Amino acid sequence: RKRLYAETINQPAITLDGVDVSVNLNCGLLIDLQHLDDTGAHGVGLYRTEIPFMIRSEYPDVEAQTELYGRVLELTGDRPIIFRTLDVGGDKSLPYFADQEQENPALGWRAIRIGLDRPAMLRKQLRALLSASAGHDLRVMFPMISECAEFDDARAVLDLEIARLVRRGGVAPKRVLVGAMLEVPALIWHLPALLPRLDFISVGSNDLMQYMFAADRGNPRINTRYDALSPPMLTMFRHLVELCEAAGVPISVCGEMAGRPLDAMTLLGVGFRSLSMSPPAVGPVKTMLRSLNVSQLRAYIETLYPGRDHSLREKLRSYAIDHGV
Ligand code: PEP
Ligand code: MG
Repeated sequence: RKRLYAETINQPAITLDGVDVSVNLNCGLLIDLQHLDDTGAHGVGLYRTEIPFMIRSEYPDVEAQTELYGRVLELTGDRPIIFRTLDVGGDKSLPYFADQEQENPALGWRAIRIGLDRPAMLRKQLRALLSASAGHDLRVMFPMISECAEFDDARAVLDLEIARLVRRGGVAPKRVLVGAMLEVPALIWHLPALLPRLDFISVGSNDLMQYMFAADRGNPRINTRYDALSPPMLTMFRHLVELCEAAGVPISVCGEMAGRPLDAMTLLGVGFRSLSMSPPAVGPVKTMLRSLNVSQLRAYIETLYPGRDHSLREKLRSYAIDHGV
């Protein structure tokens, strides 16, 4: 099987019925970026900037961050990469950042909430990202956005840093594309207001699933109790895709499910055309999609939405087997 996946490196990520899929990597450490070449991924759909922060003993200053992001961009070459601003609090803590104990960290002071309340940290990170991207494209996204105003506030911080750079005669990125992670259900109902204001959306299905079902993603007693391949989640996904398509805003999925072949197949069936996953998932997902007729699957999934099933996984698995996916 290994050899089979090796063959996929140079094969286009295109379905049997000719639909192009963008297959991207989730990365955090420099070493992850070598997998761009050995998987043939399109780019980096999620660069988790907190990972290099977590393995340091002190907070990296602007200079250290600029150097790091410069290295990342060098290794990424001409491929697109999306930098996610610091996503700490919740399940990820920094040894040198004293956040208070919280009773419900997943629902607590984390991610962009910290970024907006402690803007110096966010500003320094954006400053480093901007200067590392001088003359190139910068794609940046904010984690855990829960409402339109939070996105606007985060974007205003970015605009301050762009203005600062220009004022000081620095070289700005060629383009700055700004996105939000969709991880909090409330944001779905703010999308009509939000979509005209941003350049892309990335669905963090790990957190979105946790908040949709009110089920801690890290608690083994319940984290397999509900299934992402269920009528509520698929209905929600379809709604997201429709809204983004109508607004002309690219949307992708970067949670773990995007890297599981059956889940990825289903995401394509509800309309997603861009997925981001851990490096070992690229071969299996590409193999799956190259044997998939996505319009046929879409028609099948249409019949499943009204169901009262706890999980559609077995039906989708049977579909995959019956159709040689
Ligand atoms: C997610 O929530 O799905 C996601 C990609 O972000 P993280 O796993 O880093 O929280
Ligand atoms: Mg998340």
